Amino acid sequence: MSSGAFRRELERRNPDPRGRRWLFVPYDQTTDAIGPLSRWQPDETGIVVVESLRKPSLRPYHKQKLALILSNLRHFALEQAARGVAVRHVVTPGSYADALRSEAARTGGLTVMRPAERELRVDLEPLVAEGLLEVVLHEGWLTTGTQFDASQGAEPPWRMDAFYRRVRRDTGILMDGDRPEGGKFSFDTHNRKPWPGEPAAPAPPALPLDPVKAEVLDLVEARFADHPGDLDGDSLTATRDDAETVWRWAIEECLPWFGPYEDAMSAASEGLFHTRISFLLHVHRLLPSRVVADVAALDSDLASREGFIRQVLGWREFMRHVHERTDGFRSLSAERPDPETAADSNALGAARPLPPAFWGTESGLACLDTVVDQVVRTGYSHHITRLMVLSNIATLLDVSPRELTDWFWAMYTDAFDWVVEPNVLGMGTFAAGDLMTTKPYVSGAAYIHRMSDYCATCRFDPKKDCPITPLYWAFLDRKREQLAGNPRMRLPLASLRKRPAERREADRGEFERVSRTLGSGKAL
Ligand SMILES: Cc1cc2nc3c(=O)[nH]c(=O)nc-3n(C[C@H](O)[C@H](O)[C@H](O)COP(=O)(O)OP(=O)(O)OC[C@H]3O[C@@H](n4cnc5c(N)ncnc54)[C@H](O)[C@@H]3O)c2cc1C
Ligand code: SF4
Repeated sequence: MSSGAFRRELERRNPDPRGRRWLFVPYDQTTDAIGPLSRWQPDETGIVVVESLRKPSLRPYHKQKLALILSNLRHFALEQAARGVAVRHVVTPGSYADALRSEAARTGGLTVMRPAERELRVDLEPLVAEGLLEVVLHEGWLTTGTQFDASQGAEPPWRMDAFYRRVRRDTGILMDGDRPEGGKFSFDTHNRKPWPGEPAAPAPPALPLDPVKAEVLDLVEARFADHPGDLDGDSLTATRDDAETVWRWAIEECLPWFGPYEDAMSAASEGLFHTRISFLLHVHRLLPSRVVADVAALDSDLASREGFIRQVLGWREFMRHVHERTDGFRSLSAERPDPETAADSNALGAARPLPPAFWGTESGLACLDTVVDQVVRTGYSHHITRLMVLSNIATLLDVSPRELTDWFWAMYTDAFDWVVEPNVLGMGTFAAGDLMTTKPYVSGAAYIHRMSDYCATCRFDPKKDCPITPLYWAFLDRKREQLAGNPRMRLPLASLRKRPAERREADRGEFERVSRTLGSGKAL
């Protein structure tokens, strides 16, 4: 990979590598605040960082995601060399295990914190089996499997709220003794306001460009020209200082309004008052423990502070435990699949291909086109757009959950297997049934109309001819037997039964027409 400026700088800073203990630092562990790197003396420590040419070719990753991962890793290597840690920078066309085998032999063995991604764990298994790689506890997580198990029944279904209550009690975060601050554990019901256009949506800070970042941007543009997405140097959070800048911005500009507008969606901003720190948390540029402590200590609206802490201490940790407990959803399959094959949960039997509109072809549905455009431009959109626009429409269209998951994995800068699979298979599409949610998150146009400004510019009217509403009814009709036993679907299914037969027939026709049109890459 093109790396002249980076390599020159690394050579200039790199200390003598002799007489050291060596760690392998994966792309998502760019921190020296936890694990062995936080305890070993810099002048006795060496790290191996690996740039894989194989990994980016596994999926059509968004260009900005590739640039973020690469520029973070390179800057981290430079930061470590500057503090006296010796750095081995390895570029490999093959697997991580192959790249590390000779490093481990040369250094007398490597240590790594348990990788969060299953894909990397599987890659490294041979090295572990050969005794060349020692795996130690990943110290970035806030909770343990024991806490998860203690909060849930022995078998699924698993529920986030029980887990969250348990860890709030265990950690004492936002607690007054035994009672939650403000009298309840969740202020979710306070946090459901549409955004009226003010306060103004904050724009993320523009970050300084440097030679290492510029080289990575050129490299990604040249080598991955056929990958989707736009590159943006201004939002390339690659250094420790960049992470601090973004976090300060999030605290000052986003947190005060995080709660009330958490579910609101707008064409004017892909994030509104969401913090956009997920990539930084997952690669450990920001530690979850630190952001939770910072927000708990703020002197601001409790509903906003609790809302944010629930995301990091609750949802993020819960998703990771579901990933671990299901072996990345593989243990849910009837037949135990090959470890290399993808998780295939599909409770609702959806098998249609993802329409080209998800890659940027115009669909004519303003909500879908707006959110897809945000994702193509930035590699990001906030939670409700992922759930109630993208997953909702894909689910109503019977799109294969696996294909949708792979799209999210490629297109979002914060998507790694441990977090994207539970979110899409478990939450967004109901592909794992009631494993972790009580019902499918599907809706007609009314929800999108109430919580967003998308409908104002749409060629359809949400109250008259919007196709999403008949798609919703047609979905209920197709899945009515599968959903019949679900108590939370009783009301919608009762409404379906009252819908006149000719309307239901028209809904089915509309489902076929919309599927056909979008499937052929045309706009409605
Ligand atoms: C269909 C679907 C797919 C998703 N895919 C991903 C994904 O690939 N990667 C990912 O990090 N999140 C995913 N999420 C969860 C959530 O949308 C993102 O974490 C969030 O939008 C990140 O933006 P933010 O940093 O502005 O979050 P904020 O709203 O500011 O929240 C703060 C932090 O809480 C954590 N968080 C919140 N919700 C979740 C959640 N459900 N799961 C895990 N962490 C959470 C994130 O680390 C986030 O940075 C998905 C959600 C859905 C519905
Ligand atoms: S009218 Fe329907 S398709 Fe158009 S933006 Fe609103 S919900 Fe989406």
